[in-house]
Amino acid sequence: MNYFSYHTHTQYCDGKSTAEELVVRAIELGLTAIGFSSHAPLPKKEAWSMSLDRLEDYIAEVQGLKQKYKSQIQVYVSLEIDYIPGVTRSFDEFNSESNLDYTIGSVHLVKAKSESEFWLFAGSDTNYIHGIEVLFDGDVKKAVTAYYHQIIEMIESQKPDVVGHVDKVKINNKGRFFSEDDKWYVALLDKTIEVIKNSGTIVEVNTRGFYKNKSDSFFPDVYFLKECKKKAIPVTISSDAHHVDELVLGFDSVCKLLKTIGFESVCVFADGGWHDQPL
Ligand SMILES: [Zn+2]
Ligand SMILES: [Zn+2]
Repeated sequence: MNYFSYHTHTQYCDGKSTAEELVVRAIELGLTAIGFSSHAPLPKKEAWSMSLDRLEDYIAEVQGLKQKYKSQIQVYVSLEIDYIPGVTRSFDEFNSESNLDYTIGSVHLVKAKSESEFWLFAGSDTNYIHGIEVLFDGDVKKAVTAYYHQIIEMIESQKPDVVGHVDKVKINNKGRFFSEDDKWYVALLDKTIEVIKNSGTIVEVNTRGFYKNKSDSFFPDVYFLKECKKKAIPVTISSDAHHVDELVLGFDSVCKLLKTIGFESVCVFADGGWHDQPL
């Protein structure tokens, strides 16, 4: 299968490479397409998000690269947009302002009782545990439930084209606070899958935790993917690259897994829309 990379970060957010360096490497690797999805600006800037005053330059730079390299590769402009109810700007606002090719919706910050402090579950272990203790009264089930409810609300209200690393909330758990076989956890996955099915959102299979050795599985995991297959929910694959060397890391493994589960195709973006490409 010809590879592509639709979820990539640049120096406009926490990426380590410039957009042009990424395009050049993508061409060297023979990719059919590269899409940029730097972290969208947040009302209160995080270390990893783009500042609002750089958004225009980001869009202009990627549009410029689209023209410059159009005979060699398809270049797309997107954002990985965070959703925090009552806090973040709407996806439509970003979309109409920046004329994005597609949107990736993700939750990195979970809202609890505070309007100003959120659970940064994928950060350091200290942050992860602090969030459960302080923001969710030491109740991991409450914290994880809030995460999935935020994902569900994002899909229903913001309608992203792609839902980013949908079960990433498990990243720092490492079997310590809950089991992914717990009934309440599986019920949250099932509810999320049902909402995705009804919304037509594409599920990305994100390899970043796997190749960074932070997770022994992809986001999402096998159970989730099997349910997607059963329900004919479309999937795509992404490396969530933050560096030129990461553009297609883990793709061989993830394709193998998808074939084992029974998938015959993945979604690719071309000519303004998502299409199936045989695996
Ligand atoms: Zn992300
Ligand atoms: Zn990302």
